Amino acid sequence: MKVNKADIVISAVSPAQYPRTGLPEVALAGRSNVGKSSFINTLINRKGLARTSSKPGKTQTLNYYIIEDKFYFVDVPGYGYAKVSKTERAKWGEMLETYFTQREPLRVTLCVIDFRHPATVDDKQMYQFLKHFGIPIIVVATKADKIPRSKWNKHTKISKESLGFDPEDDFVLFSSETGEGKDEAWGLIEGYLAK
Ligand code: GDP
Repeated sequence: MKVNKADIVISAVSPAQYPRTGLPEVALAGRSNVGKSSFINTLINRKGLARTSSKPGKTQTLNYYIIEDKFYFVDVPGYGYAKVSKTERAKWGEMLETYFTQREPLRVTLCVIDFRHPATVDDKQMYQFLKHFGIPIIVVATKADKIPRSKWNKHTKISKESLGFDPEDDFVLFSSETGEGKDEAWGLIEGYLAK
């Protein structure tokens, strides 16, 4: 998709603020700092629309970006974040569960993981949670530029094994530095949007 128009619509702190346009949604789930904002910015060719931050886990909001008036990217930050109270964490967990299990316009969720390391316990939990609810998933293994190509096969195997990856899902190697995987990711996303 060639993107000329992209804007942040809302950082939603509660479901009442989710858009009511009915446009399809593509969610991004992943640990803080894994590269979700960079993924969005790369796909839409903008440097700074989606907020990239070096301070992990500060925002517990669902950030909605409208793309070409056609669909939303929904950045769902927030597992593996530190420094929030147990109560806040539980509340956030509930909000995520409600979003992923009840959000009608949700077409597909991109599980963004760090290609450099095995998937974490949190990554695996999120992936398996989405699978449990039958939510379509594309795994995006990012920061691939940090691993030499000669080791891509080995790292792919490690990523998949640590995630408990289902071979029926899509797995995209990605880099926001080199653009690796950008066309493939768009192709898959557009497939879901067309459904
Ligand atoms: P988010 O918290 O998941 O939205 O993560 P960000 O997109 O803010 O990225 C966190 C950090 O990782 C930033 O310093 C990015 O520049 C860096 N980063 C993100 N994607 C890549 C990538 O593909 N390659 C490299 N080398 N760095 C990346």
